[in-house]
Amino acid sequence: MFQIHANTSIAMSPKSPSDSWGPATRALHTGQRRSAEGENSIALYLTSSFAFESPEQARARFADEEPGNIYSRFTNPNLSAFEERMAALEGGEDAVSFASGMAAISSTFLALLSAGDHIVLSRSVFGSIANVARDVLPRMGIEVDLVSLSDLEAWRAAIKPNTKMLFMETPANPTLEMGDIAALAQLAHDNGAILAVDNVFATPVMQQPLALGADLTVHSATKYLDGQGRVLGGAVVGRKDLVRGPIYSYLRNCGPTLSPFNAWVLHKGLETLALRMERHNHSALQIAQALDCHALLSGGKVRYPGLPSHAQHELAKRQMQGFGGLLCLELGDRERAYRFLNALTIAQITANLGDSRTLATHPATTTHAKWKEEARQAAGITQGLVRLSIGLEDVADLQADFEQALEAMAG
Ligand SMILES: *Cc1c(COP(=O)(O)O)cnc(C)c1O
Repeated sequence: MFQIHANTSIAMSPKSPSDSWGPATRALHTGQRRSAEGENSIALYLTSSFAFESPEQARARFADEEPGNIYSRFTNPNLSAFEERMAALEGGEDAVSFASGMAAISSTFLALLSAGDHIVLSRSVFGSIANVARDVLPRMGIEVDLVSLSDLEAWRAAIKPNTKMLFMETPANPTLEMGDIAALAQLAHDNGAILAVDNVFATPVMQQPLALGADLTVHSATKYLDGQGRVLGGAVVGRKDLVRGPIYSYLRNCGPTLSPFNAWVLHKGLETLALRMERHNHSALQIAQALDCHALLSGGKVRYPGLPSHAQHELAKRQMQGFGGLLCLELGDRERAYRFLNALTIAQITANLGDSRTLATHPATTTHAKWKEEARQAAGITQGLVRLSIGLEDVADLQADFEQALEAMAG
């Protein structure tokens, strides 16, 4: 029997019946709630505050002596339900949700780092994370170093006595470069630091950073967790002392809170995550293999962790259960990339990824447009790079569309 919680915000205990379940069962049967009406699909709790039976009860709730809802900036049943499901999927002790992926990530930095601390990040990260590292953290007196994601020696060399956090994204956006989670967790712990992993591209269905030693995973729920391009959301999952401690406290006081409606959408989105990822993986692998043999893309111009030509294919096989729904094409220059994008008939041109529909992006002039050209070059984000987020369409239709767009590009 799955757990049905009463109206309470008690965080899930680390050991629960879900420990022996696979990801699909966890996503369907954890984090459930049922009100006195007996609904089987979770209700939507659109309320800004919660009523107390007495001033004594209000006092006890505020004093953390009695669990329960207080105010939707930091307690709401839809948020708690989504958080429990995320913790169960990632195998984490606890989870806290946020209004967006960037709210989750910037809050993690600001909750755990202080003036005088040092953080090391991989160079190829989501554009806004790099912008926060470059523009916001130094203003708070936090020292930042960026290193090559796949170069373990560079990570080691960057560590200083005041290093508090290593932050990586694997596979990375948009280059699909990968980092060794277990090795970086070991390096962090040997030096008294923590490792936080952005698990957006792989999702907890295909990669479990906490089981490999990471202390935290961070998510943009906007992508595959919703999976249908509807709402923004974010989450931080992992060690309870960090998540329910400083990170929750930051959320409670600073207020980058997820809306109950978005939490409800994400909670339902997780129910189909495992099924969707299976299809995304399968279609992306098939398309990557077909395009890799295309005359216009010969010589390793298709980047996909599932291709033997990917520099870290062995690491991908070891660290992930599936290679993901994103692939990149190196089309030579911006003009060719734009000609390809303009010729697509199925894929939508957007800056999003992880939607049910196939999406195409030119990172150099959109998500990474604010970077200096040298920084883009160093991260492998060329003017010819196109990122494809393979959707749930019939794979033959997608393949035909990409092939005709390549022909149109070649002229
Ligand atoms: C989109 C994304 C983010 C940021 O999430 P938002 O929900 O857009 O704020 C962070 N990391 C990765 C890898 C992403 O793709």
